[in-house]
Amino acid sequence: MALKGIDIFKLSPKKNCRECGCPTCLSFCMKVAQGAVHPDRCPYFTKEAKAKIAESSEPAMRTITAGDGDTTYALGGETVLFRHEKAFVSPTRYAVCLSSAMSPEEADRKLEEMRRVDYVRIGERMFVEMVEIEDSTACAGDGHTNLQERYAELIQKAAKLKDRVLILTTHNTDLASKAVDYLLSTGNRNFILNGADFNNYAEMNALAVQAHIPLGVFGGNNDELYDTIALLEKLGNRNLLFNAPDTDVQSAFSTTVQFRRAAIKDGNRTCGYPSIVHVNKLAGADAHLEAALLSLFTVKYGSILIADRMTYALANPLYGLRQNIFSDPQKPMRVEPGIYPINGADENSILLTTTDFALTCFLVEGELERSGVPCNLVITDAGGYSVLTSWAAGKLSASSIASFVKENVEPKVKCRTLCIPGKVAVLKKDLEKKLPGWKIFTAPREAIQLGKFLKDMQRENN
Ligand code: SF4
Repeated sequence: MALKGIDIFKLSPKKNCRECGCPTCLSFCMKVAQGAVHPDRCPYFTKEAKAKIAESSEPAMRTITAGDGDTTYALGGETVLFRHEKAFVSPTRYAVCLSSAMSPEEADRKLEEMRRVDYVRIGERMFVEMVEIEDSTACAGDGHTNLQERYAELIQKAAKLKDRVLILTTHNTDLASKAVDYLLSTGNRNFILNGADFNNYAEMNALAVQAHIPLGVFGGNNDELYDTIALLEKLGNRNLLFNAPDTDVQSAFSTTVQFRRAAIKDGNRTCGYPSIVHVNKLAGADAHLEAALLSLFTVKYGSILIADRMTYALANPLYGLRQNIFSDPQKPMRVEPGIYPINGADENSILLTTTDFALTCFLVEGELERSGVPCNLVITDAGGYSVLTSWAAGKLSASSIASFVKENVEPKVKCRTLCIPGKVAVLKKDLEKKLPGWKIFTAPREAIQLGKFLKDMQRENN
């Protein structure tokens, strides 16, 4: 928990010598508590006092980095409970589960299905960032050795997916040790070890620390989970994640919410770690429930969500939801102004313009692509607002469009036909005056009508 000014004052040298630039030690300590000055400005604070102040000023929820090299993802590091208070900073990451109980064919099919989900939405790559390799030997009884071999084979297979972080889920320290050794021997640090519990935490900790990777912690209940995290912290490991219970939805939900509240509201740093939620286990074989739970835990504090599978139909609404939740509500989502060729457009292709609000661009661009008609989409600087909002705010006008076209479009294209959004048809006459030699058309009011509009124009011109 952050120290108050008076607590810092108790640690101060109380010399009142003014060397820090403050008239008294108390005023200096008050400024330190507000974050206005660094404790190093006083040469007389002891090392221990500085360490205590530094620890208290760390954020309540730690940022854990999963992965290696170009494939790294920040998890956690949140400072608020609700998006409207400031912003959520570390998007939820999704994983597909491969289990050693699966046949090799089933694992291949899941990986192939998962790899097909890979597209760009509003400038962000949407794909499954992680793969969980789950050890099923604990519930297998006989046939142990076979499953352990299969676990190793699955790791070798998944490790070939260079752009995915592996989550090695096992409570078996021997198996974990072999898996970690294998991955390190191939120079791979792109993984999380997930299997520390009250009985094995010391061995698992040694493996994770040696590999410099995050360690996932399990607990039979919230008290045991908390105590195990505290024991790992005592060993000096704060590169941790916690697993929400996979027994029922209510327990999983209350654990993610309680830990997040305890960290952010009460400053309890032992609860301040990112979470892993095994949505696949909570949903059982119910694909619809799994889709609903993926959405629920994206909103309520799941840092890594493990799914049974990922299809395009599931990903499309889910990744859209994530993009909305993990964007800054105070900053408009913008697209860089410029000319965007669509369907193989060239300098003679028709031009359409809209604003730089990302969602508007995304919708318009999608409809233009669907039309199959080559065209150039001209994005002007409209402050990141939608068409009507930017027009009402004076950010989108005949003058702003004309000056952008003269400076950035005329030198690059030969076509002199420009379609403006139907919602600002009122700008047409003014724009014709400001852009002599151009034919200005009014496009439909709704993006969905753009395809027909463009095809009709193409037919008339032919
Ligand atoms: S330099 Fe240190 S001891 Fe001197 S007044 Fe500032 S806080 Fe107090």
